Amino acid sequence: MKKEKQAKEIIFKSEKEVPLMPMSVGNMLWNKTGGWRNIRPVIDLENCIQCGICWKFCPDVAISIENERPVVDYVYCKGCGLCAEECPSKCIAMVEEEK
Ligand code: SF4
Ligand code: SF4
Repeated sequence: MKKEKQAKEIIFKSEKEVPLMPMSVGNMLWNKTGGWRNIRPVIDLENCIQCGICWKFCPDVAISIENERPVVDYVYCKGCGLCAEECPSKCIAMVEEEK
């Protein structure tokens, strides 16, 4: 199954702003890791500064940028919490899944 993800252009003012981790590419889209999740990221878009860091760090390519805002695809999000950890605005909360 082919699934395309798009993101806005992200411009870093210096190399210091670039995250130290390599970003994932499309091959992770074959793995629907959403079934592993027991906590899920919930983004408070009111406090999102649209930096794209969460998109860049997500190891499962589960975050896309739509209309300049991050959107989580829960089919692929395994709930690792990396996005919440790296978000400079701390506007991603990891919330327990309802059973
Ligand atoms: S918790 Fe965040 S970083 Fe981890 S898989 Fe889900 S969207 Fe990606
Ligand atoms: S890392 Fe945080 S502030 Fe940056 S785009 Fe993602 S949710 Fe928004």
